[in-house]
Amino acid sequence: MTPERALALSYSPTGTSAAAARRLASVFTHDPEAVDTTRHPVALELAPQDLVVLGAPVHDAGLPREMAAHLSGIRGTFTPAVLVVTYGSRSFGTALQDLDTWARRQGFLPFAGFALAGPHSQLTAAPCAGPATLSDGQEARLGTFARSALETLDRAETVFDLPGFEPPLGPALPDHPERDVKTSCDPDLCIGCGACPAACPRQCIPAEEPYLTNLRRCNGCGACVRICPVGARELEPETALAAIRASLGLDGAARGE
Ligand code: SF4
Ligand code: SF4
Repeated sequence: MTPERALALSYSPTGTSAAAARRLASVFTHDPEAVDTTRHPVALELAPQDLVVLGAPVHDAGLPREMAAHLSGIRGTFTPAVLVVTYGSRSFGTALQDLDTWARRQGFLPFAGFALAGPHSQLTAAPCAGPATLSDGQEARLGTFARSALETLDRAETVFDLPGFEPPLGPALPDHPERDVKTSCDPDLCIGCGACPAACPRQCIPAEEPYLTNLRRCNGCGACVRICPVGARELEPETALAAIRASLGLDGAARGE
């Protein structure tokens, strides 16, 4: 079967999951639509002849807690779905299974899914980094997976011929380190551009005083660090970042490249 349109649908604070979903969707159609729900909830109805690629990051071996609310207005009607979760910690845990459960509950029929390892956003959130891009290694792994998913879709005459998908569970995390990473802002550097309050998916940063952060809500996703044009924001403390590096067997180098 050939989808009439493909949609890359993501929840993606640092942009990596959105990039992965777009990359996959481009395999199924030359001109995929892209919808990122990170900043705002979105309402959409999809048909059986559509195809959706769902992209999400792994947070603490599962899906981000706030993601379900942002995607609750999106519904499929026996719409085929391809799943991708991006992770930088040691395991994708239940994220692929959770995304599969959410997709089925919303009316989608996942027939393929992939957990894409990459640099950990808390270790690589660099100021002024601009839009996230996939590394050559990630592109290659996604390409291999995408070709397999496309062959599966080509073999099906209708959506009901697609095989079921059994999402794997990521390995357990022994000695999981304390990950209490937050962001801080240097008020002397902040120029009040308003980018970080708009970028934060957890509404931690007040628009009127963007040099402040609600640390009880912040989960250290790195979106504000990445988007700040003057490098006023950073993740800390270094002790927690060092513990994550150690648990990943990294000395700050990228993972999975
Ligand atoms: S304040 Fe915290 S949760 Fe919000 S974007 Fe920054 S790191 Fe992410
Ligand atoms: S993105 Fe940077 S400069 Fe802009 S409001 Fe936030 S901290 Fe200030």
